[in-house]
Amino acid sequence: MEKCKARIDSIYNGSAVDGKGLRCVVFFTGCNMRCGFCHNPETWTEKGREVTLEEVVSKIIRYKSYIKNGGVTLSGGEPFLQANFCKALVNALHKEGISVIIETNGLICDEELIRLCDGVRLDIKNQDKDIDGRVFKFLDCCQKYDIPVTMTNVLVPTLNDGADKLSKLKELKEEYSCIKDFKFLAFRKLCESKYQRLNMPFPYEKYEEGSKSDLDKAYDFIKR
Ligand code: SF4
Repeated sequence: MEKCKARIDSIYNGSAVDGKGLRCVVFFTGCNMRCGFCHNPETWTEKGREVTLEEVVSKIIRYKSYIKNGGVTLSGGEPFLQANFCKALVNALHKEGISVIIETNGLICDEELIRLCDGVRLDIKNQDKDIDGRVFKFLDCCQKYDIPVTMTNVLVPTLNDGADKLSKLKELKEEYSCIKDFKFLAFRKLCESKYQRLNMPFPYEKYEEGSKSDLDKAYDFIKR
């Protein structure tokens, strides 16, 4: 039988920012978006490393006790582009009693994969362009299977942190009870050197970095 394989950039052990508790994060290569603030542009074009399901599972199992209060996050890139591998991985990790969430831009609604996961981190990139039928379809599916969703959003000063933009996220929260939480992230330029290395322009160079007070304002707005 042909082995189940995927292309990944890396597996990071010990993330405290990709979901609840300490987590192993699998970064898949390939993405169907080109966000101006992307911190992982190497996942767009670089082929990464081919791995088998057994290899990924055995690597994660070594950290099982370490991630017992967290779990595994499938990220990227866009993990839904390698949905079959993700399904096999989630099933294998569940057999080990490990919880798995998936981080996505929400453009690919694979009902079976969504239903398998213990949670979704749905990253809305640009409230004007990206809250469209595809995101509604994705959220409809999360709602149908009662999959808890954390909405994440990188706040880029002056681009998407105004009340008009944030109110679109608030409207989504009011419409979908599966949205349990919001996680705002401040725009940072730490990734700039990656763009230089890849000989690519950094599209959001002109924007200022975000601050903690920008995040506080956004949380206040959403809670109001
Ligand atoms: S969806 Fe994620 S990985 Fe893809 S370009 Fe946007 S930030 Fe980068």
